[in-house]
Amino acid sequence: MNDKIYDISIIGGGPAGMFAAYYARLRNLDVALIESLPKLGGQPETLYAQKHIYDVAALPKISGTDLTKQLTDQLAIRNCDQYLKTSVSSIERNNDLWELTTTQGVLKTKAIIIAIGNGAFHPRKLTFDYNKELELNNLNYFVNSIDDFKNKDVLVAGGGDSAVDWAIDLSKVSKRTSLIHRRNRYRAMESSVEKLNQSSVEQLNPYIIKNVEFNQKDHKKIDVTLKMIKSDELKIVTTDKLLVNYGFISDSKILHDWNVELSGPFIKVSQEMETNLPNVFAIGDIVTYPGKLQLIATAFAEGPIAVTKALRNLYPDKDYFEHSTSLFDK
Ligand SMILES: Cc1cc2nc3c(=O)[nH]c(=O)nc-3n(C[C@H](O)[C@H](O)[C@H](O)COP(=O)(O)OP(=O)(O)OC[C@H]3O[C@@H](n4cnc5c(N)ncnc54)[C@H](O)[C@@H]3O)c2cc1C
Repeated sequence: MNDKIYDISIIGGGPAGMFAAYYARLRNLDVALIESLPKLGGQPETLYAQKHIYDVAALPKISGTDLTKQLTDQLAIRNCDQYLKTSVSSIERNNDLWELTTTQGVLKTKAIIIAIGNGAFHPRKLTFDYNKELELNNLNYFVNSIDDFKNKDVLVAGGGDSAVDWAIDLSKVSKRTSLIHRRNRYRAMESSVEKLNQSSVEQLNPYIIKNVEFNQKDHKKIDVTLKMIKSDELKIVTTDKLLVNYGFISDSKILHDWNVELSGPFIKVSQEMETNLPNVFAIGDIVTYPGKLQLIATAFAEGPIAVTKALRNLYPDKDYFEHSTSLFDK
């Protein structure tokens, strides 16, 4: 870690942090981007690399990993100092500067943008006991590679966007895909449900999963016991893969020690993405304000707002607003 004093240090290299870093560089600020994981990209890269995203402006359809690639290419145009595998554990005010304590040392900065998403995230797992060896191959909480599901019998569990989108995408490569949900209605976007209804996905609802174990005769397969809601009916489905998509549990407890004002697990911000602390801003999934949506599109918009406000605070004499075209023309 160097002795430089950065204008802005961005904590979290997900979509919000990556685009904010690029935009801050575009405004000629000295930027550090700090990410606890070995690679940038946040949730789209880590949790749903191959799932498609349909609601980012000007990108009709893009996978999580391709979105990260686009953001990485964009950031490379005006590169900033990147600290990967570096977790920020505390932030402390020292005179007019902020000092970030990280796993790689202390970093000094004039302003901070907190873009930690939901903090460290973990998938919500099946709640009953099962043989953990199932997780080596048959029972998955993430899709690392879509090829793992090629020509396989696949059960997807869940009723949200991710489960529905995965069921549709996997049905295109698998031998057979079924979707288990405990309700008859899904919590997914209407357009996704429409696609689901037109796809080859077999819909098993309302069922919950009661048990998962290796198949006695063929250890490469698993038996998934389903129980119909409000009924004693049990059904055993033998399959190659079970993909559980019950959402994610976030851990943003670390924020309690940072003295930022919270509302539940989220950071309260003003219209200009300011927190209660001087020159500390927050953007992306970690923030809350009236009307906040946890979307990539929203996260992208919040970065330039935070950067512009930081710029005005740090350098009040600088021109306030320029379009990128005029910035590149210089
Ligand atoms: C399964 C799923 C499907 C989704 N589908 C869509 C979709 O179709 N369209 C859409 O718009 N949105 C979708 N979302 C939501 C979208 O991914 C988020 O809104 C977006 O990722 C928020 O970006 P972010 O940068 O705020 O947070 P994140 O993507 O969570 O990135 C935060 C980063 O901060 C890092 N970090 C955390 N704590 C620290 C620390 N202390 N120090 C350093 N680094 C830290 C994390 O490792 C992470 O890389 C989906 C989410 C999920 C889970």
